[in-house]
Amino acid sequence: MTASAPITQDVLTFPRKLPDGPVNLIGLTREGLRDALIDAGTPERQVKMRTGQIWQWIYQKGVRSFDQMTNLAKPYRADLSERFVIEVPEVVQRQVSEDGTRKYLVRIAGGHEVETVYIPEQGRGTLCISSQVGCTLTCSFCHTGTQKLVRNLTAGEIIGQVMIARDDLGEWPELGRAPNDETRLLSNIVLMGMGEPLYNFEAVRDAMKIAMDGEGISLSRRRITLSTSGVVPEIARTAEEIGCLLAVSFHGTTDAIRDKLVPINKKWNIEALLDVLRAYPKLSNSERITFEYVMLKDVNDSDEDARRLIKLISGIPAKINLIPFNEWPGAPYQRSDWSRIQSFADIIYKAGYASPIRTPRGEDIMAACGQLKSETERARKSRVQIAAEAGLD
Ligand code: SAH
Ligand code: SF4
Repeated sequence: MTASAPITQDVLTFPRKLPDGPVNLIGLTREGLRDALIDAGTPERQVKMRTGQIWQWIYQKGVRSFDQMTNLAKPYRADLSERFVIEVPEVVQRQVSEDGTRKYLVRIAGGHEVETVYIPEQGRGTLCISSQVGCTLTCSFCHTGTQKLVRNLTAGEIIGQVMIARDDLGEWPELGRAPNDETRLLSNIVLMGMGEPLYNFEAVRDAMKIAMDGEGISLSRRRITLSTSGVVPEIARTAEEIGCLLAVSFHGTTDAIRDKLVPINKKWNIEALLDVLRAYPKLSNSERITFEYVMLKDVNDSDEDARRLIKLISGIPAKINLIPFNEWPGAPYQRSDWSRIQSFADIIYKAGYASPIRTPRGEDIMAACGQLKSETERARKSRVQIAAEAGLD
């Protein structure tokens, strides 16, 4: 990053409706769907029922065509199919790692591409979804941060990633059968893919509301974790309007080092961030915040850093997730040694915090944290620039 790197939120949000094309129902909130059905001539007295029926077909049963909506009259189905489509983004490539992790390259309107990663675990599975093509922020250890921001994803493109993963996992319940929480392959969502979710707040919120809706995908808000680099003004809003769990990319224990690693720190520093985090658990009625901490050799991984971290977060119900740095071509950092990560984790654990070390998953297919980037988009920075900005030249 440069000292004057702009941190901006005014990015293009792609319109839901192409100039003359039909409206895509996927991504509309319940209210949005209701309004669309009224526009299409559905009588007011029927609209609540029709909204519920169509919602269930789409989000509970995974249906993509009006013809299959057998509890709607045929002429009504024909009307709907003239005005609307039910479209998820296209999967253009699917890669499966040796460890079972699946990475989908997803094409969205305009020909842009984002990545979505499914991580199977014992008795559950987590889908890591993207919220932007690229990112306006330029965290120096992140591959996505080297890619220019192209645009925000729409709510439909965000929830669409969940739907294509369920398609691939064959996880739409049989007609009329509610999904069983114990046997779900896709049981958790993390907003930890490409982009800064809090710079695309409305679309992320609407998509997560759809994911949480009890008549559809029906994931509890406690199974959704939004990761932010620290967009302070949107954090309280996240608690109030989404209510999901929060993870924060902390990564540095002094402003000097955090400024370098997570440049948004120059706008909202550690103190400002911690202030707003203190209020989050109560506001969102959730137990604790996850502090993500990437382990970079000789940069932020000393015992002193661990002790400073504990002091800083004192009083905040927290879990510290240590992420061994995942390398990418041209990355200016190295992963901390395993013994160093262990010592760091021990100090935190002894202070009374859970300190799990995140096992890198899907590294062989570049699906691990911070490795995502769409090759089709123009790189913002050269390798030389990246090294210079990280102070390694
Ligand atoms: N923009 C959001 C969410 C996406 S990044 C955020 O920054 O929080 C998801 C997580 O991966 C963040 O904690 C991020 O700091 C971390 N990450 C990024 N690059 C990484 C890398 N190369 N190795 C390990 N973790 C990385
Ligand atoms: Fe953007 Fe998050 Fe990567 Fe930072 S770590 S550049 S905020 S995606």
